[in-house]
Amino acid sequence: MSTNYDHEYDVIVVGSGNGALTSAICSHDGGAKVLVIEKSNQFGGTSATSGGGVWIPNNRYAKAENVDDSVEDARNYIQSVSPEGKINNDLIETYIEQGPRMVDYLHENSRVKYRNLPHYPDYFPDNPGGKEGNRSMEPEPIKGTELGDDFKYLRGQHPQTAFTMGPINMNFTQVEGQLLLGALPGWKTLFAKLFTKYILDIPMRFIHGWRDRRLTMGNAGIARLLLSCKDRDIPIWRNTSMTDLIHENGKVEGIIALQNNETIKIKANKGVILASGGFEKNQTLREKYLPKPTDTAWSAANIHNTGDAISATKGLNVALHQMDAGWWTTTMNIPGHEKGWLSIVDKSVPGNYTVNKNGHRFSNESQNYVSFVTDMFDEYEKGNPCAPCYMIFDSNFRKNRPCGPLLQASMQPDSRVPKEWWDPSFLSKADTLEELAEIVGIDAKGLLETQVKVNEYSKTGKDLDFQRGDDAYDRYYGDPSVKPNPCLAPLSEGPFYCMVLYPGEMGTAGGLVIDTHARVLDTFNQPIKGLYACGNCTTALLPKYPGPGSTLGPAMTFGYLAAKDITGANF
Ligand SMILES: Cc1cc2nc3c(=O)[nH]c(=O)nc-3n(C[C@H](O)[C@H](O)[C@H](O)COP(=O)(O)OP(=O)(O)OC[C@H]3O[C@@H](n4cnc5c(N)ncnc54)[C@H](O)[C@@H]3O)c2cc1C
Repeated sequence: MSTNYDHEYDVIVVGSGNGALTSAICSHDGGAKVLVIEKSNQFGGTSATSGGGVWIPNNRYAKAENVDDSVEDARNYIQSVSPEGKINNDLIETYIEQGPRMVDYLHENSRVKYRNLPHYPDYFPDNPGGKEGNRSMEPEPIKGTELGDDFKYLRGQHPQTAFTMGPINMNFTQVEGQLLLGALPGWKTLFAKLFTKYILDIPMRFIHGWRDRRLTMGNAGIARLLLSCKDRDIPIWRNTSMTDLIHENGKVEGIIALQNNETIKIKANKGVILASGGFEKNQTLREKYLPKPTDTAWSAANIHNTGDAISATKGLNVALHQMDAGWWTTTMNIPGHEKGWLSIVDKSVPGNYTVNKNGHRFSNESQNYVSFVTDMFDEYEKGNPCAPCYMIFDSNFRKNRPCGPLLQASMQPDSRVPKEWWDPSFLSKADTLEELAEIVGIDAKGLLETQVKVNEYSKTGKDLDFQRGDDAYDRYYGDPSVKPNPCLAPLSEGPFYCMVLYPGEMGTAGGLVIDTHARVLDTFNQPIKGLYACGNCTTALLPKYPGPGSTLGPAMTFGYLAAKDITGANF
């Protein structure tokens, strides 16, 4: 059967996140004529809105600082944190070996530059091979105006990864965010410095409104990748959504796409690389695969990620794996917001605790977010009413720390909190704990008992129930001025507050099975000719989230490997 194509390229990349753009750059450099298509009107997907962190042990930026790490340590660490039978050793070996090469390639041949994060620990730093920093990198900030007209099509940061108040939208790096979001010592001087520079950038207000010229985190990562695509004249078509794959005799030959309401067919002479994200915003697939309860509203991911890679590959007998996995994190469901708001830093800093409907704690609030929600699901399945759960804090905490979308009361008093936010499904306040329990529907006796315990642990510094503050990861967002435990402070002064937290995610983590060349495998474990994938449409390589950047690191590495396999390039 011969198909009439409207366009012809060597490689078609579906999506415009970190993995997609890495594969586009490397396919181009391998000699291919490349097209990138993006379903929405904006580039970057969840990657653009993210922290932009990339976890690659032994990367060049860490090596430049002579840090103590090795391939063996990385291997031991990944093995020690990964659930038995849940990881593919060949993929892990490939990742450990090729991840640093991908970073080298981009650093030496494109505008993509990162910097080492010396103090951001692995998420299980006490495990064999674990480190207290130097494995994660964040993108070097860059001026958005370098993108020219395309700047307006770069998807903005998730509001929680920027300082937002009214129209003000000021970016910060991960390192800066640690101080600002936790209101940790030094945050005021830093804030004054950043804010002065931002507010005095008058020319920017005329061109791009309140958007910050200085891009950081996920926006800097995607801007750098986009600029590298622009340098190569790689076309990126927005508003172009892959709806199906064209295949003959088991070989993928092209795609069908919807472009501005018109169906087009595009031929891919060498290969199609799927990088269209997970199925975060598809309630039917969530209910079919993810642990319950589950809701698209609790996802912080890009709203256009609806599992299209899974539907388009239906006729190809593809293998799907680990479909119940997610990059879990508690999220808040803020009235009027279309995406979940991650609760990471606020839940970790001292001065709050999190309970179930009975008013009892069930997990360590300062541990990494993936493990916290895993505990939530495990407990919920056993009958523990902890999904949603309830973060409790007092007026002291409210005065001094930002929490979710609320800035500290010294900057945003309760009178300036939008009225619609005062809803028991999100935010409540009462003079006493008993009244708060009644409003939210928590058992008051349980809550009072829990608070007595938390206050006692804050005094002794030892959380006898869940060991909050015991390891280096817990303490990353701890406040060193709070003693004896930087993650535990007593709650005493009313009014008391409650924020409701849901078992949400930053992305789903199950999908197509790929091999060490990023080729998509069928149910007989055979590569499907012409079909490659990377990112959240694939089965997660590192399902336990060993360190900060465990989704973007693999997405970029396997995007690079797909390009190498398709083009035969030897870089
Ligand atoms: C606030 C926040 C912070 C985060 N911080 C980090 C971090 O620091 N480090 C980390 O590793 N992870 C982080 N994550 C998670 C990370 O952002 C995602 O796991 C990652 O971006 C997923 O990449 P992806 O390429 O699979 O999907 P995306 O980046 O979402 O890209 C998929 C793209 O494909 C497009 N698309 C979908 N369907 C189609 C179609 N049919 N045709 C064409 N295009 C299509 C989408 O519109 C989207 O632009 C964070 C997430 C959030 C929300």
